[in-house]
Amino acid sequence: MMKQYIDEAEQALLHTYNRYQVVFDHGEGVHLYDIEGKEYLDFVAGIAVYALGYHYKDYDDALKAQIDKIMHTSNYYYNVPAIEAAKKIKKISGMDRVFFTNSGAEAIEGAIKAARKYAYLKDGKTDHEIIAMNHSFHGRTMGALSVTGNPKYREAFQPMIGNIRFADMNDLDSVKACITDKTCAILFETVQGEGGIFPADSDFIKGVRALCDEKDILLILDEIQCGMGRCGSFYAWQRYGVKPDIMTSAKALGGGVPVGAFMMTEKVGQHSLAAGDHGTTYGGNPLACCAISKMIDLFEENKIIDHVNAVAPYLIKKLDELAEKYDYISLRRGCGLMQGLVCKGPVGEIISKALEKGLVLINAGTDIIRFVPPLIITEKDIDDMIVILDDALSQCVK
Ligand SMILES: *Cc1c(COP(=O)(O)O)cnc(C)c1O
Repeated sequence: MMKQYIDEAEQALLHTYNRYQVVFDHGEGVHLYDIEGKEYLDFVAGIAVYALGYHYKDYDDALKAQIDKIMHTSNYYYNVPAIEAAKKIKKISGMDRVFFTNSGAEAIEGAIKAARKYAYLKDGKTDHEIIAMNHSFHGRTMGALSVTGNPKYREAFQPMIGNIRFADMNDLDSVKACITDKTCAILFETVQGEGGIFPADSDFIKGVRALCDEKDILLILDEIQCGMGRCGSFYAWQRYGVKPDIMTSAKALGGGVPVGAFMMTEKVGQHSLAAGDHGTTYGGNPLACCAISKMIDLFEENKIIDHVNAVAPYLIKKLDELAEKYDYISLRRGCGLMQGLVCKGPVGEIISKALEKGLVLINAGTDIIRFVPPLIITEKDIDDMIVILDDALSQCVK
């Protein structure tokens, strides 16, 4: 049955992914089920999206109720779910102004536009530069791709938006070397996801913040993957004692409904995008905002962030033990429930073997096994995961 669907998919879908050979049907908690009924323990969560696990009753009920009321209006009118969601985002992020998008990439696009407009309002010029990081990932649209520090993703799609310089994460001197009098923003992921689960260190973030303050450059932090509690605080930057001027959120923000947002401080809000400068048909519609609003409520009601802080050390300990056991694994790195096992070679075969055995994992780059499970995982789930992964590793590597 699965084989037939996969063949049909390959006839109809544009081949932009080399997909794993599985057709998922439904989920329950931290488990996924394929269309043949096989159960899988899920340590991917749709890539850091399903933070509360699958089929979470209160969340599903809230969405169903919203569908019965109204799903979409237009940004030319007010709607209550958007107002509620914006107030809650302000509270969890400490930012002042919110713009809702439909995806992470669109949140990045908006952040770039806000930064360019801010600089334009200062000097009337249109040749401003943005500094982004090597190995970063910000999405696939042309603007987001332009700040993505992976030449392989950009090559065929040149020219990019231009005036982007790339520095190295955690190398403040490399950032300083990129600064010119045209620099309007410095952008990076607080913890790089796709590029290798690579957290910014405290000195780096603080150093960049100080540089930005000194030169009135905007600090933009991409929290699309590392945000929403995954690193043990609502947003990962909150653990460093610095604040961005603009930030992006998506993935777990909607818990499965496609949403994103970019947020900014009042200062940037007052001196950047104004009426007519930016818009979206769907962004911030009642269904999307109902999802955001309910996610934030459920995070608070269930103390999800406390849970992350309680369970993450156990995951870290267990992954460290595996790294110790297998020569093929050089190290573990990450933050909270966003972890990576950095290997000495490709991890595709290990991930496929784990999938066969009922465990869903994903790579970050070719050599890193990424762990971004639902935030509700327990120590028991971690034990179950380790048993399967250990088994898969023992069959694939020494
Ligand atoms: C996934 C991701 C994006 C892009 O989000 P989409 O919703 O896929 O457009 C941007 N930045 C980071 C850090 C991401 O992990």
